[in-house]
Amino acid sequence: MLPVLTESYGNASSIHHFGQAAKQRLEIARRQVARLLGARKATEIVFVSGGTEADNLAITGAVGASTRSTKHVITSTIEHPAVLNVCRELEAEGVAVTYVGVGGSGVIDVRDVRRALRPDTVLISIMHANNEVGTVQPVREIAELARESGVLFHSDGVQAAGKLPLEDTGADLYTVSGHKFGAPKGIGALYVRDKVKLAPLMRGGKQERERRPGTENVPGAVAMGRAAEWINSNFASETARIAELRDRLEREILASVPHARANCAASPRTPNTSNILFEGIEGEAMVIALDLKGFAVSSGAACSSGAVEPSHVLTAVGLSKDDARSCIRFSLGRQNDEHQVAALVEAVVASAAHLRRLSPVAVG
Ligand code: PLP
Repeated sequence: MLPVLTESYGNASSIHHFGQAAKQRLEIARRQVARLLGARKATEIVFVSGGTEADNLAITGAVGASTRSTKHVITSTIEHPAVLNVCRELEAEGVAVTYVGVGGSGVIDVRDVRRALRPDTVLISIMHANNEVGTVQPVREIAELARESGVLFHSDGVQAAGKLPLEDTGADLYTVSGHKFGAPKGIGALYVRDKVKLAPLMRGGKQERERRPGTENVPGAVAMGRAAEWINSNFASETARIAELRDRLEREILASVPHARANCAASPRTPNTSNILFEGIEGEAMVIALDLKGFAVSSGAACSSGAVEPSHVLTAVGLSKDDARSCIRFSLGRQNDEHQVAALVEAVVASAAHLRRLSPVAVG
């Protein structure tokens, strides 16, 4: 990024040589991201500000470009708010939305998607990998179903980039976010299959082939392109290494902490994610206890209006509200190694014992 921030600072839409140098770098980045996503043409990549914008653009854009008089969208109950809240807004505008549920596996049954199809269905939006439990959805099968039904298929791949192969999802629209795979925050991309019509979210200039107006974020795109290249060269070894660390983390925690279990662990999952229920322990308390020991984990629950709301994903996979509040999501990445995993296991075991001593509750 540094040369683009400091030297080659041109506006990629300018025709002078500074602009053209920036444009060249932007187009290299577009090809790198296209390669990561298995896009046939680099022009199928639209640079945006992140996963949220890509999801909004895909769903609002596809529905907005449809000329049908009645419109129906299929999504799932475990999507990120960047998809769910767009769908809720569409409902308020008169678009029908079906939210397909998941069982305890955390994996969508393609037959449920098939059953949800209607003659006026214009779009299916189902994530590739879930951000809380890591479950991998059958995107290839959903893409085939969508194609044979003449319906567009969008997939939120924010949690899949760098963790799963992306070249063969079959999606017409596919979301990635730079900060999930090594680029800075504030850059993302939407893959838009050639000839798929999309109404832009914003009004402005003609950048990104009129799909996303605004001066291009060249440093962000360049960084995302480099991150994509890194994944293209290191994917197999890195995902195998991370999966081994994750499995070890999970195995050792479950062996050492009583009344703990891993959510959706029998399902296909991204290699980096483990979501563990520690019965009777407040997830937030565990997050703070581990933070004090230098480990950053997530409870998945969000604080809204002063109350800790249980995660919609964990309740969708069948956990009670109390159990959902007792879960911790561990995510591993490129920076982690086996020494950190060993130290984390020790910290989790000690914190769980301490928290249970502080506020004993009946478990089991
Ligand atoms: N979709 C999923 C599955 C996510 O996990 C996230 C962020 O964590 C987003 C969308 C939103 O991406 P961004 O933070 O880049 O807007």
